Amino acid sequence: MVDKSYNPFEVAQAQFDRIAAILGLDDGTKDLLRCNLREYHVSIPVKMDDGKSRVFRGFRVQHNDARGPAKGGIRFHPMETIDTVRALAMWMTWKTAVVDIPLGGGKGGVICDPHHLSMREQEQICRGWVRQLSNAMGPSQDVPAPDVMTTGQHMLWMLDEFETLRGERQPGFITGKPVGMGGSLGRKEATGYGLVYTLREALQQLGVSIAETTASVQGFGNVAQHAIELYQQLGGKVTCVSCWHQADQAAYSFVKRDGVGLDELRGIADRFGGIDKDKALALGYELLPGAAWLEQDVDLLIPAALENQITGTNAARISDRVKVIVEGANGPTTPEADEVIAQRGIYLVPDLLANAGGVTCSYFEQVQSNMNFFWDRDEVLTRLDAKMTAAFGAVSACARERNLSLRDGAYVIAVGRVAQACKDRGWV
Ligand code: NAD
Repeated sequence: MVDKSYNPFEVAQAQFDRIAAILGLDDGTKDLLRCNLREYHVSIPVKMDDGKSRVFRGFRVQHNDARGPAKGGIRFHPMETIDTVRALAMWMTWKTAVVDIPLGGGKGGVICDPHHLSMREQEQICRGWVRQLSNAMGPSQDVPAPDVMTTGQHMLWMLDEFETLRGERQPGFITGKPVGMGGSLGRKEATGYGLVYTLREALQQLGVSIAETTASVQGFGNVAQHAIELYQQLGGKVTCVSCWHQADQAAYSFVKRDGVGLDELRGIADRFGGIDKDKALALGYELLPGAAWLEQDVDLLIPAALENQITGTNAARISDRVKVIVEGANGPTTPEADEVIAQRGIYLVPDLLANAGGVTCSYFEQVQSNMNFFWDRDEVLTRLDAKMTAAFGAVSACARERNLSLRDGAYVIAVGRVAQACKDRGWV
C-alpha cells in the first residue's frame, strides 16, 4: 500500500496465470478465475465530531463463491486501494479452498485512518458501510470479518446495523465478533496459532527442533502477537519485532538478543500494535530502523505486517542462517523475492496456508453461531490444529509429488478445487 509501482492485483493475477498453466485450465475457466465475480464501490457520508460532514470511500469485492459464500476481512487503512482489495479477495478464495472449508473469497476496505477517528466516527463508518452493501452481503452470500485496524467492536456495530436492516437476528452475517456476543473462543489467537502449527510441521519435515530456533517478526498486531505467544510456549526465541510508529510515520525494529518479552511489549504497545520507543529503550531494547527485522541473524522470519515487504531488492539481505520464512501477512513476498528465496534454499510456508487459521476459525464461528451452541477454547484449537496440519500435509505432499515450491503446491490444490467447483456448477 506504500509502493505505488507495486500492484498487488497484478501480482495475484500473475500467480494465478502460472498455476493455471501448471493445471492446464481451459480459457473459460482462466477468464473466470483471474477476475472478480462482483465488485462494489461505495461512498459513506459521516457526520464528524466537529459537526462537519466527510465522505469515506469503501469497497467490497467478491472474487468467487463457487465453493460457498464469499468470505474475507474488512480493512481500515488510509492508503487502501481497490487493487489491494481485489488481490486480497482472490487470495481469500485460494485460502478457503486450500484448508478445504465450504467458503469462497471476498475482501473489503474503507480508506480511513482510525488513528485520527473517534470511536463514534468509526462506528458511523461501520454502519454506513453495511447500509451501502447490505443487499450484497449476508450469511449465505458474503461474510465479512476483521482485518488490519478493525476489531470485534467494529464487527458488532456492523452486525447490529445488518440485523436492524433485516429486522431479525442473523449472527452468521459476520465473524470476529466479541466472545459472548456470538464470537468464538480461540478466534483472536487463531491466525497466529495456525501459523505456528504450520511452522511446527515445516520444522518437523526439516528435522529441526522448534526449541532450538530463533525468529524475527515483522509486525506486532493480532497475527504477530499470537504467533509469538505460541512459538514461545513451544520453546522458540524471538529476538526482533518491528512495527509502525504513527507519530514518526516510520517503522522501527526492536531487538533483544536474549529474547523479547511478549508481555512487556504488550504492556507498552497501543491497540494498533505500535510499540512505544522510549519505553522499549528503557526496558533494554535496541532500536533499529524498520527494515532491520529482515536482516537479523535468526533461523526463522515471520512477516506479519503488510504485503510487499520482502522484495527482489531486499531479499538478498536475508541472513544465510535463515531456514524458514512463514508468511503471516497476505502477500508479503513479491514474485522476484520468491525466486531469490527459492535459489537460496530457504523453505517458505506461503500466506494462503500459513495464515489460513483465521478464516478456518471464522468458519468455526459461523458454524457455532448458526447452531447457537459454542465450543470451549480447547475444542476450537484442537479442530484448528487438525485442519491446519491436514492442509500442510496435503500441500507438502502435492509439492513433493509435482516437484513444486510449497507456494505452488498450495495454489495447485486451491485453484484446482475452485476450478472443479465452477465446472461442477456448470459455470464453465
Ligand atoms: P494489525 O493491524 O493487528 O497489526 C499490523 C501490525 O503491522 C502492527 O503492529 C503495525 O505496527 C505493523 N506494521 C504496519 N506497517 C508496518 C511496517 N511498514 N513495518 C513494520 N510493521 C508494520 O494486523 P493483523 O491483523 O495482525 O494483520 C497483519 C497481516 O496479516 C495483514 O497482512 C493481514 O491481512 C494478515 N492477516 C490477518 C489475519 C487476522 O486474522 N487478523 C488473518 C490472515 C491474514
